[in-house]
Amino acid sequence: MPMDYFVWAAVSPDHTVVIDAGFDAEVARRRGREHLRCPTDVLREIGVDPDRVPHVILTHLHYDHIGNLEKFPAATFVVQDAEMSFWTGRHAGREHFRHLIEVEDVVHLVRKNFEGRVRFVDGSREVLPGIEVHHVGGHSAGLQAVRVRTARGPMVLASDVAHFYANIEEYRPFSIVSDLPGMYDAFDLVRSLSSSPESVVPGHDPLVMHRHPAARTDLEGVVARIA
Ligand SMILES: [Zn+2]
Repeated sequence: MPMDYFVWAAVSPDHTVVIDAGFDAEVARRRGREHLRCPTDVLREIGVDPDRVPHVILTHLHYDHIGNLEKFPAATFVVQDAEMSFWTGRHAGREHFRHLIEVEDVVHLVRKNFEGRVRFVDGSREVLPGIEVHHVGGHSAGLQAVRVRTARGPMVLASDVAHFYANIEEYRPFSIVSDLPGMYDAFDLVRSLSSSPESVVPGHDPLVMHRHPAARTDLEGVVARIA
């Protein structure tokens, strides 16, 4: 199944939060992925200046979610304790796991921690008014989903709890797994956080761009407005 790669932005009059950071052209080339454009360039196009974004929530540390961290020079990064522990712990270098991350990305985040720019969460927390993170695990040890209060009601950015709608709607686990029972629990947890299937946003499903309208006509196929 073809996959899309997303970053998300939650914007209110008071706060701007970016959720995940994508990856850069060099990593895309090395991994054989098609790199359409840098996510920070796209953020600029919708009025979000990455140089000034104060909060970046990292759903997990896989390569396709935490490249480009240096392009958010003012940000504090929100991550689950379990995720940072895993990728700096005893199993991170095992064959099944190590190809899922770019070592330099993890090192970069470790450096940010020593600069006081990582905010750790253990479990569920409202990190800003209307923005909750929830530790779900399964796909990665410290994967977190993000629930955002919007004018349309709460939307749940499931990230890689569900690469595709079919994963969560049909209880079909994705093949990259840290803890399989935990992945089933993550399906249930995200479903319990959402008010309807339409309020769940999967991490990599091209259907997202069809189920939600383009943010602007000139951004068709590039930016969808979820709420
Ligand atoms: Zn992913």
